Amino acid sequence: MIADLIIIGAGPAGITASVYAARKKMNFLTITKDIGGQAAWSSDVENYPGYQFITGPDLVAKFQEHMDKYGIKLNLNEEVVDLEKKGNVIYIKTTKSSYEAKTVIISAGKKVKELGVPGENEYKNKGVAYCVTCDGPIFAEKNVAVVGGGNSALDASIQMMNIANKVYLINITESFTGDPVMQDKVQNNPKVEILHNTRVESITGERFVKGINVDTRGRKQSLSVEGIFIEIGLMPNSWFARELDKNERGEIKVNCASETNIPGIFAAGDVTSVPEKQIVIAAGDGAKAALGAFRYLARLK
Ligand SMILES: Cc1cc2nc3c(=O)[nH]c(=O)nc-3n(C[C@H](O)[C@H](O)[C@H](O)COP(=O)(O)OP(=O)(O)OC[C@H]3O[C@@H](n4cnc5c(N)ncnc54)[C@H](O)[C@@H]3O)c2cc1C
Repeated sequence: MIADLIIIGAGPAGITASVYAARKKMNFLTITKDIGGQAAWSSDVENYPGYQFITGPDLVAKFQEHMDKYGIKLNLNEEVVDLEKKGNVIYIKTTKSSYEAKTVIISAGKKVKELGVPGENEYKNKGVAYCVTCDGPIFAEKNVAVVGGGNSALDASIQMMNIANKVYLINITESFTGDPVMQDKVQNNPKVEILHNTRVESITGERFVKGINVDTRGRKQSLSVEGIFIEIGLMPNSWFARELDKNERGEIKVNCASETNIPGIFAAGDVTSVPEKQIVIAAGDGAKAALGAFRYLARLK
């Protein structure tokens, strides 16, 4: 059977699109690798209306409750690997199956960038990690390094300064790009040692990570750490949408109605060229895309 709509991803954009699609009683399916996406990685969300403070995982639990209210079932642990439109039908291939739909919303968000230094691959999940909210507690009372200088790295350092013995915050440029409020929190904490102008050269260890070699403007040193959080930015999960127009960052180009260059294929949230990447923006985009898909279907009929 051809679905009215297939939603790819269940972060804030995909979840909101699913709620709107359910309320419009569309025949739809949401295919996703996980629930919550990046929203589940945030330790404290202080800018989603209705909550002055909520943790990412708690906000995702609220989203989940909202979906349950509408009986929305997700195809979880399933990854879309190809998408193609022929005639009026969009064909989707996943790691588990194949599907057909009249409209699609791509809300696949972003994934973490890797550092690309010796030892990173070898020690993945053996000390090298990319999500503090998920893996931080493993390093309680240990020395850790956080690599990066934007909001993700600052957020990771703030979380780890409450858990770890010591946090080296390693930033390749001479100042942070993250929010000043977050900068203040790390700069004023005695557990955090900040190394600006510092490049990671390699990660060392035996079975697990034991250290990190860094270079600060030619001054080389080895830091003794058991955990390394790599927080150097994100890349859009847009690779499977081969036929869509993208910008230089690989983000799917959309207009203000969340439409891509292919009629019937919409995109929402962090995977798109929309300038700011926030939960409330992704959620708003998801709503807009679902309503757009609904209107598109009405026109097809
Ligand atoms: C550490 C951190 C802290 C943050 N803190 C805040 C904050 O305090 N406030 C705020 O407003 N924003 C915050 N953000 C940003 C916010 O989390 C994102 O803007 C928001 O989650 C984007 O939502 P999204 O639905 O577009 O994408 P994502 O949240 O990235 O969700 C994408 C979804 O798509 C799924 N997916 C990906 N590829 C595929 C595929 N091929 N097939 C199927 N499914 C797929 C993923 O599993 C996931 O479910 C933070 C981000 C980070 C990293």
